[in-house]
This record gives sequence, structure tokens and C-alpha cells, in this order.
Amino acid sequence: MPLSKVLFDSTIELHLDIERTGAEARATIIELLKNLEKELIAKVADGVTDWSKARIAKQLSEADAVIRQYYDDAAGIARDTTTSVAQVSASATATSLSAAVGGQVAISVIPTATYLETLAGNTIIQGAVQADWWDRQAGDVAFKFQSAVRQGLVAAETTPQIVKRVRDVMDLSRRNAEALVHTSVQSVANATREKLFEDNTDVISGKEWSSALDRRTCPTCGALDGKRWATDSKPTNHSMAYRAPPNHWRCRCSCIPVLRTWAELGINMDELPDGTRASMEGQVTDKTFEDWLKRKTETDPTFADRALGKGRAELFRDGKITMDQMISGGKPLTLNELKAKYEKPILSQMKNDAYEIAKSGGRNKGFFNQWDKQKKGKIEKSIKSLSTQVDIHNEKIDNPKNHINKPISDHELNYLVTIYWPKEIRNFKQQIDILEGILGERHHVKK
Ligand SMILES: [Zn+2]
Repeated sequence: MPLSKVLFDSTIELHLDIERTGAEARATIIELLKNLEKELIAKVADGVTDWSKARIAKQLSEADAVIRQYYDDAAGIARDTTTSVAQVSASATATSLSAAVGGQVAISVIPTATYLETLAGNTIIQGAVQADWWDRQAGDVAFKFQSAVRQGLVAAETTPQIVKRVRDVMDLSRRNAEALVHTSVQSVANATREKLFEDNTDVISGKEWSSALDRRTCPTCGALDGKRWATDSKPTNHSMAYRAPPNHWRCRCSCIPVLRTWAELGINMDELPDGTRASMEGQVTDKTFEDWLKRKTETDPTFADRALGKGRAELFRDGKITMDQMISGGKPLTLNELKAKYEKPILSQMKNDAYEIAKSGGRNKGFFNQWDKQKKGKIEKSIKSLSTQVDIHNEKIDNPKNHINKPISDHELNYLVTIYWPKEIRNFKQQIDILEGILGERHHVKK
């Protein structure tokens, strides 16, 4: 069966939105690593050439700890982003599958929040899980920073020369981090979609490779474009083995589900109302990003300006920048914006079940174990104080200037308001969720 227009168009749109959310996460992590660079340079600039051997050893081991701390933060942001991306991908894919069959076939229940949280952490990204990659990048930076300082000292360089070495190390570290975030986000999004495909083999017969968003000169992906595989990944009329996208670092390819025929689905098209039939029969023959954008613009004239930024969309229409330049510079989308867009109708049904996750040994399991043994009164007291903390932090976000008593840059302020405090609030809310879950369970058992 030719590709359903609904499925093609919604897949590309989701993919683009996830790309934009990835860009937002990358920007945040880059900002973080720039702060790390500042700290490291401040260390070195403080008279490194006059240091004694003992002082050097001490400073380097301190630097090591600082690097690990920053990378832990970066890994946390990436983990939060990919978990949300998994939820949105699951919800959006189920919604579009259901739309493609005009609601005539039930789409299987989407995976639970617990499952998706684990999936985000366990997805293999170019050979390793994301936590291992972050560990490795932290180790790399620590090693290269040490080498830069030691090499500079051995060569009797001046402080500015050593500072330059450190800057080079950090430039590379940011590029590596960017590639990791980009590829993690796409790997998790695709792994989630594959799971949905596997769970809905009664509706779809396979998947088709799409390089619509990745038309840079990549020979492997170019050859895969338009190829199909059955849901069990057996090739259809060709011999290229299936490997889930992304195929390489920074790859933007994805797979579009291929619907079963109406007969296979047990749907008699003639019996359906005209409107439903028309949208279900809609097939796509123009499968490039340009075609998609043109279709999208017909129904939503300002879409490109909103999603990609006005200036860039204009340059693209005039043929002055490539698609890759346009997409990479597209307007970043925050996690909240992404969720709000795809919230209806399924995502809102998905409970953000921190309790279930912690109980099954996932995130916050330590917290769960510690509180599971506590007395009811103590737990209730803790819920109260956590709720107060949530209020305090919401106040901070509303009136940040009232809570900061030293001059900080706009970037730092932005980090506090958009990343750090919201993260604190999320943590408090998760803990409340867990504590309430513990109390709820006890109540249940007594009955
Ligand atoms: Zn690719």
C-alpha cells in the first residue's frame, strides 16, 4: 500500500518538533559547559605557571570533580528531555495511527510512563546507553584538561598559551555533547515509535525509511530512502538489512509506518462516510521535506515562520539557505511547549507516575526505600514541607529578581528560571507523588 498522507505528514511534523526540542536541550547544555569552561580557565589563570607540584596535583583533582559535576547536570537534562520525548512520541504516534484508520481500528494501549522512562535510559545510542556516553565524555574532558595543563607546563608555556589549550579542549567537548544530545533524542524517539509499531502489527504491515529531514550527502541513508521492511524488520523486495534510525551521529532519518490494506484491516471503505474515506485514502507521493512544507503551508500559512523562524523560512523559500541550515537553526521548542502541543488526547491520560517508577526500582528508588518504612505522621509532615517548597520555587520563577542578591548574567538568570528551578519543582513534585503513593498503598492494604 502507498504511504498514508496522514502518517507521512504527522511523522515528519513530529520529527521536526522533536528536532526543535533537541535544539533547546542542546542550547541549555552548551550554556552549562560554557560555565564549566569559565571555571576551568579561572583555575588556570590563577598563576598556574608558578604552582608547586603538590598544588598542581590538588588543582587537577579539584578540576576533575568540577567536570564530573557539570557533566552529571548535563546528563540529567538529557535524560529528562529524552524521557519526555519518549512520552510525546508514543502519544503522537498512537494518535496519528488512529487518525490514519479513521478511528476504525483500536490502537493498542500505549506504553506506561515507567516503561518509557526505562526505554529512554536503555536505548542504545551508537553502541552505548546515554548515561555511559556522558560518563565517557566527562572522563575524556578531565583527561584532556589535565594533559593540556601538564603539556603546557612541560613546554614552559605562558598562562595565556595554556588557557588557549584549555579553550580548544572545551570547544571539542561542546561539539561532542551536542552530537550526543541530538542523537540521543532521535534514538529514543525512534525506539519509542518502533515499540508502537511492534504493538500494532494488526494495523501496520511494516515501515518505510524516510530521509526527508536528512538529505545531506550521506551515502548510506540516501540508499535507504524509500526502502521498506516488514514489522519484524525483514526487507521487502530488497536485501538491505534494517538498522533502526538514527543511522549515524546527527542523522535525522526516521521510519514511517505502512498501513495494512483496508481488506486486511477488515474495513469496507464503501460503507464509510465520505469525509472519513477521503482522509483514510489520502496517499502521499511527494515525500520530500519541501513537499511536506508546501502542503503544511497550504492549510497553515504562517507555520514555517513560527516553526523555523521568519528570516530563515524566507531565505529557504528564496533558495538562499539549505534545508539543513534551516532546520538546525529552527526555533527551539521547550519541553513544556512540545508536551502542550501533543497533549491531547492521549498524553494527558498518561500519569506521570513517579511512585510506580520508584517502586519498580527506577528513578528515586533510594528515596522510596527510605520513606517506605517511615511513620504516617512523618510522611504527611514531609508532604507538607515539600508542597511549601513547590510554592516557594514557583514564587522564585514569577519574581526571580527578589530572590537573587548578587549580579548575574541574563544567561544565568535564564538558566535558573527555565531549567534549574523547574527541575527543583519537578523533583519536589515527584517526591510528593511517591510519598502519597506510599500512603495510598498502606490505606489500600488495610481495607
Ligand atoms: Zn541519516
